[in-house]
Amino acid sequence: MKENESTAPADFIRDIVATDVAAKKHDGRIHTRFPPEPNGYLHIGHAKSICLNFGIAAENAGGCCNLRFDDTNPVTEEPEYVESIKADVAWLGFDWSDREYYASQYFETLYESAVGLIKRGKAFVCSLTESQIRDHRGTLTEPGSNSPDRDRAVAENLDLFGRMRAGEFEDGVYVLRAKIDMAHSNIHMRDPIIYRIRHAEHHFTGSAWCIYPMYDYAHPISDAIERITHSLCTLEFEIHRPLYDWFVNEVDLPCRPRQIEFARLNLSYTVMSKRRLLELVRDGNVSSWDDPRMPTLSGIRRRGFTPEAIRNFCRRIGVTKYDGITDIALLEHCVRDDLNKHSPRAMAVLNPLRVVIENYSEEHEENLAAINNPEDDSMGIRQVPFSRVLYIEQDDFMEDPPKKFFRLAPGREVRLRYAYYITCTGVDRDPATGQILQVRCNYDPATKGGSSPDGRKVKGTLHWVSAVHAVDAQVRLYDRLFTVEDPLADTSVSDYRELLNPNSLEIVDAAKLEPGLADAAPGARFQFERLGYFCVDRDTSPQQHIFNRTLPLRDSWAKIRSQQNGKQANDKTA
Ligand code: ATP
Ligand code: MG
Repeated sequence: MKENESTAPADFIRDIVATDVAAKKHDGRIHTRFPPEPNGYLHIGHAKSICLNFGIAAENAGGCCNLRFDDTNPVTEEPEYVESIKADVAWLGFDWSDREYYASQYFETLYESAVGLIKRGKAFVCSLTESQIRDHRGTLTEPGSNSPDRDRAVAENLDLFGRMRAGEFEDGVYVLRAKIDMAHSNIHMRDPIIYRIRHAEHHFTGSAWCIYPMYDYAHPISDAIERITHSLCTLEFEIHRPLYDWFVNEVDLPCRPRQIEFARLNLSYTVMSKRRLLELVRDGNVSSWDDPRMPTLSGIRRRGFTPEAIRNFCRRIGVTKYDGITDIALLEHCVRDDLNKHSPRAMAVLNPLRVVIENYSEEHEENLAAINNPEDDSMGIRQVPFSRVLYIEQDDFMEDPPKKFFRLAPGREVRLRYAYYITCTGVDRDPATGQILQVRCNYDPATKGGSSPDGRKVKGTLHWVSAVHAVDAQVRLYDRLFTVEDPLADTSVSDYRELLNPNSLEIVDAAKLEPGLADAAPGARFQFERLGYFCVDRDTSPQQHIFNRTLPLRDSWAKIRSQQNGKQANDKTA
């Protein structure tokens, strides 16, 4: 880890951890876990949890962090998701070493622990349906009512639970419930369900089980089995904490972990829950889980975001107890900051306009030195070919420009980056359509390298590509996935997908690149001069080069929005 990652962050969870270490609680051990459910791909919100859990482990001598797949619901979980999660955590820069666990590995212990609860009169088999159980549960102001099965004898409970496991009953016939208190002020303590019957194939245990533990039961016990000291989760589990503690106390286990809750990350202009992201994939609103518009880690990786930038972003947002929406502009700022320092420059023209340098010989061509990264001398220089016919951007030329237009126009002189000053002498048009076919120019041989010996100044510097040397490419330009900050909270539409940004993907098919880019491997990142940050897409091939725009150079969106709102877009969590 580097630069700004060298000093440890500070937050209320790290304060608790430091206090526990000082007090030699758990013998001074620190052991955390990141517990994804393999029911979808990880998103940027998970990165916050990964950085927190693995970060705290790394900051404490001897600290460990487990990667635990919370795979207790066979209906929604798949091996594809397990593999993607591992790839994403590794890409973010974290190493779980041999600490890869699955809650499903604990099914036997979880079952035995439930038998123990039954024997001690702390659990019972209930024949109410899940909806009847909900009806009996009471409300925030009224107590619930006891199940008619609550006082079933221990022996009968043991017999029924054994037969549930043996597969004697259909789904839903019985559940196992903890026997706590139907009048408890916390609804989660009102005899919650511990086990359900589900005749479903599990991605790991196959058909070995037909009863599956509930999250609220499996999670604390999995934590305790792994001797986790600090079990960090998001705020919605705060209300479940008494139940977490109840299980940890009632079940005989080697360790008593402590649950601590923090605010989940929400980002503007996107949705984050895996359920929503799955909808977008299934319904074809995006091409895949790793569509570069998705807030998934695989999506932003394909888009060209770096793990360093994401870790830095997670440091900057910090860890608090306050829910809020973080402006996606902060994430983009962190990405630009990192890419600016580390990505080599290159020249590419997205919307080509032919330029003929009439006083440059047709037989001649030359290589000109270009700086790879002005922020980093160690990245050296490269050679870019120059010849009589070039491409520049269409919007870098105007035949009849307004006063403040400092680019190319008839009679005007501009600098071609790393090359020469050129002056426009005229345009050639298609006689039929009147469309501009090419721009004619003269160059000044004395300005080689892009400066004039007589001190003559030009206001505009354009990027360009030599036409005969240019490589054709498709370039995919991405914008925000949604048109509003908080799509799920918007009440003006009946379905949040009506708020998808119809312009979130624009495909440019006839871009021209400097020739060195033909060899760039998938994932390679560049700054295209004056245009933004780009990376090679995984779909690229020698027949068709494909680049993704990671981000434009500046946040043009924030500028447009601040013009609309009359204020600057700020990070709301700051
Ligand atoms: P989602 O609602 O997106 O499906 P989840 O909480 O159900 O998320 P899990 O796979 O259960 O997803 O999450 C693994 C861990 O990541 C949990 O500890 C969870 O609290 C944490 N996590 C999930 N989403 C966020 C988020 N937006 N910000 C911070 N942590 C998160
Ligand atoms: Mg979940």
